Formats: sequence, structure tokens, C-alpha cells
Amino acid sequence: MSLYSIDEPQTSNLYIGGQWREASDSARFDVTDPATGTIIASVASGSAEDALDAVTAAADALEAWSSMAPRQRAEILRKAYDIMIENRDEIANLIILEGGKSQADAQGEVTYAAEFFRWFAEEAVRAVGHVQTAPNGDKKILTIFQPIGVSVLITPWNFPAAMATRKMGPALAAGCTVVLKPASDTPITALALARIMERAGVPAGVVNVLPSRRSGEVAEAMLADPRTRKLSFTGSTEVGRTLLELAARNVISCSMELGGNAPFIVFGDADIDAAVDGAMVAKMRNAGESCIAANRFIVEKSVAPQFSRKLAAAMGALRVGPGQDPTSQVGPMINDRAAADIADMVTASVAAGAEVLVGGVLPDGPGSFYPPTVLAGLSPDDPILDVEIFGPVAPVVSFSSEDEAIALANATPFGLAAYVYTSDLARALRVSERIDAGMVGVNRGFISDPAAPFGGVKQSGLGREGGHEGLLEFLEAKYIAVDW
Ligand code: NAD
Repeated sequence: MSLYSIDEPQTSNLYIGGQWREASDSARFDVTDPATGTIIASVASGSAEDALDAVTAAADALEAWSSMAPRQRAEILRKAYDIMIENRDEIANLIILEGGKSQADAQGEVTYAAEFFRWFAEEAVRAVGHVQTAPNGDKKILTIFQPIGVSVLITPWNFPAAMATRKMGPALAAGCTVVLKPASDTPITALALARIMERAGVPAGVVNVLPSRRSGEVAEAMLADPRTRKLSFTGSTEVGRTLLELAARNVISCSMELGGNAPFIVFGDADIDAAVDGAMVAKMRNAGESCIAANRFIVEKSVAPQFSRKLAAAMGALRVGPGQDPTSQVGPMINDRAAADIADMVTASVAAGAEVLVGGVLPDGPGSFYPPTVLAGLSPDDPILDVEIFGPVAPVVSFSSEDEAIALANATPFGLAAYVYTSDLARALRVSERIDAGMVGVNRGFISDPAAPFGGVKQSGLGREGGHEGLLEFLEAKYIAVDW
């Protein structure tokens, strides 16, 4: 039996309190296939009133869910993992349809997304507290960890399944109930997740899914409601900043996974072929539409021409096309505006003196495609080095000393991921310590792992997702003073 039907009107509605329903004012919005530009579904667009209904449903379900035995919550999460894996192809096809990924990227995302349910099923039984004797001996200090409460989860379009499970997994494991507001470019995968949670046995109201074209209104309504105690947001720094301001009014706990501008540093002593392989992963996973995508290639002068040439050859060999075609390796950008923005960034870089080694031309025809592109010979003040490209463009800038490489890497307000290639272990660790980033890949281009703490420093965010840290974001410490 199909898990989720895009043509079934009911499941393109809001999912609130275990019911599938229309928006309060019957508003709907269209979802488009970015590979063709055609409309693939019409989805209910939640209003502020619906958002408050979802918070009510989550608040009503909180006591029963948070007092359920952790093992029982864990088993429901584990079941959700099994359902996702069993239905991997179907979910991947939804991601391809609304998100425009290649098949490998979409399949990879479903597996990655499901792993957050498995990992947090395992973590659900580890909300471990502690006890100590007070330094002056007058009492015991008991510290227990309790669920923070109703949690609003707002996710981006670039990983429509994984960004949702990375938040739902720890929230549910901790005993919180949630309202998920997915990106309006990709609401269908989130609605399919609601189906998965239903099948896994999540009680009504514990998970609510609220697609909406009125993001600002619904977020504002939920953050103004005193029953909301947590905001977990993944998206751009700009929107994150707005949400932090709204959350400040009710002093709501915030976890923010924001934009990145990852440096990918290659030292002259690195294995250049391995660095190119790693660069292809760090740059081209999800066609470059990833917050941890390598955004700036910072390469030692002695090997920069060789690295750039080999990278251009590998990038130029990729097959660009719709994800529905299994031979495609690079899908379209999320929409035409995104492709046009990337084209503008490349034009500005070329005007500043960059040389196009491959790609660089916005194609005609349907779909929001942009070709894999390598820009070489950049000056350190090239404008493309300051922006999050979010597409298949690799700018290469060179350096002459370790200090210069680090200065270039840190010359950004962002600090999410970084990558270092060198055959000198001491240098790898020294540079990893000195780079302002929440995550560093040493001689590897793939770093995501549900068991590892994912997150950024500086304007890339607050808090961590995944690992044990991800669970702690949805728990609050309570201190009980007792003398026995
Ligand atoms: P976005 O900030 O435009 O949107 C993210 C979410 O916020 C969506 O659900 C959107 O509908 C909602 N939103 C937009 N405006 C809002 C408002 N005024 N009030 C409330 N909600 C609002 O980001 P995007 O374009 O969907 O995603 C791309 C961005 O996300 C990139 O900057 C990328 O780096 C970042 N990202 C970060 C991580 C991470 O873990 N750090 C992961 C993935 C993506």
C-alpha cells in the first residue's frame, strides 16, 4: 500500500490533532516541480488561527506524551525509522518531485533522515540526570532533565525530510510535542512524514504539520503564544534573526541552524586527487544546495592550478538533468529565482577578474538548472567569497602560508562547516582548532552523521542537532535541593 498519495486531497491538507483538515479560510498554494516548472500539487495554507489550533493540539497532548515511558517513545521512533526505510523509494520520489534532487541525493536523504529517528530512539532512554553533594555539605544537589514542552519546528526546503526528522527525533525522544512548519517549496515530504508518524503509532496531537504560504504570520502567532516553549529553526540567517527577535518577547528557548560559507582548504602536501574527490562531495551533494556545502576553495598557490584543473574536469563530467531520469547526477535548483541569483553571482565574480574553467552559462529551456561551474584565479576580495552560493559553483582562491589560509577561512560572519586537506596530521588538527566553525572535515568531504553534534558558530547559529547534544536542546535541567 502506498504510504502517501499526492493526489489524495485529504493528505494535502493540514495535519492538526491527528486530523487532516483544510485551512480555516480554505486557502491553498501550489507546489511546483523545479525540473519542469509544472504544478504538481495544491496544499492547504495554514493561517494564524490554524497555527494556534496546532499549538493547542500539541499542548493538550503534552502531558500524556511526556509521561509515557521513554522506552515506549523510543519504540515508536524506531518504528518510524523502519517505515521510512521500507518506503525509501516512495519518499525519495516525493523529494525529487518537489525538491528537484537527483535520485542518489534523494535516496541518500531518506536514509539520512530515517537515521535521526533510529539515533534518537536510542537516545530517548538517555535523558540522564545526576546527583552530587553540595560543596559545603549541607544538602544534595539533584539534577533532572525534563522535556521543555511544546516545540515549534521550522524547516527549509533543501533537505525536506532530514531537516524535519533532525528536529522531530530529539523533540519526541525528549517527551516534547511539536508543530512542524515546513518550507512552502517542499511541504509534501513533511505531510508524508505526518503519515509515517501516524503509522508508527504517535498519538494525536504529538506531531502537527502546518504547511503555509504565510510563514511570517503563523510563526508570529505561535511564538506569541505562552504555551510555546521552544523554537528550533533551520534556514537563512536573515529569517533566523527575525525569529530570534520574536522569540525574545516570550523568552522562548531557541536552536538556530542558519546559513554557512564553508571554506575548503587544500595544502600543498595534500593528496590532490583525494582532495578533488572530497571537494566533489562537499560541493556537489544536493547540487550545492546544502548549508555545509564547500563555498570557498582556498588552495595553496603551488597546487592551485592543478587542483582547479582536476576539479573542473570532474565538475564538467557531471550529467545535469531532472531527478526523474536515473542517469542525472545534478538536479535543478529549487526555483528559477535561485538559478538566476547564482548566475548573477558568477557574473559579478567574472567582472571582478575570475576565470571560468567550466560551466558559467545559465541554460535556456524549462527547469531551474544551473551547470557545475569552476571559477579560478579569484582575488581575496571577490564578491562571491562573501555570499552563500547554494548552488554548483566552486570558486578557487589561493594562499601562500598557513596563517593566510586561516585568515581567509575566518573572513566571514558565518561559521558552520569547514574542510581541511593535508597529509600533515599536526597541521590538520592545528588548523581545525583555529578555524571558526562548528564542524571540520579532515581529509573528508562528507561529515553529516546523526550521531555527531551538528551546528555552527558566529552567525551560523545557536545550539546543536544530532548527537547527545541534540537531545539536550529539547530538555531543561531542574535542580532539586534535598537533605537526607
Ligand atoms: P529560509 O530562511 O528562506 O526559510 C526557512 C524556513 O523559514 C521556511 O520554512 C520558510 O517558509 C520559513 N520562513 C521564511 N520567512 C519566514 C518568516 N518571516 N517568519 C517565519 N518563517 C519564515 O531558508 P531556505 O531558503 O528555506 O533554506 C536555505 C537556507 O537554510 C540557507 O541559508 C541554508 O544555509 C540554511 N540551512 C541551514 C542548515 C543548517 O543546519 N545550518 C541546514 C539547511 C539549510
